[in-house]
Amino acid sequence: MADVIDINALRQSIMDEIAELDRLRRQAHESRALVAFDQQSVGRLSRMDAMQQQAMHIANDARRQQRHMALLAALKRMDAGDFGYCHHCDEEIGAGRLAIDPAVTLCVHCTQ
Ligand SMILES: [Zn+2]
Repeated sequence: MADVIDINALRQSIMDEIAELDRLRRQAHESRALVAFDQQSVGRLSRMDAMQQQAMHIANDARRQQRHMALLAALKRMDAGDFGYCHHCDEEIGAGRLAIDPAVTLCVHCTQ
């Protein structure tokens, strides 16, 4: 079975995921604005709830940001021509593994 990496397809899936992350980030900001408004006008959320929600938002933002960076780094590796090699052992990362997550930087052996 041919184990060929389709860079163009992977690049497209990275671009799609970045667009989706942007969409989620905008959506999160909008819903946060709504919550702030809701709190002011109705005072329905207790202070603890509000703080918990804020902590969750920050964690989600951080996770999205981290993912965004990983995806951009993968695009950079594609441009530089060293995409698909393990950062640790320099072996090729399997095409199947990259298809699942094009942002991975380690081969299956080095992940363990
Ligand atoms: Zn490796």
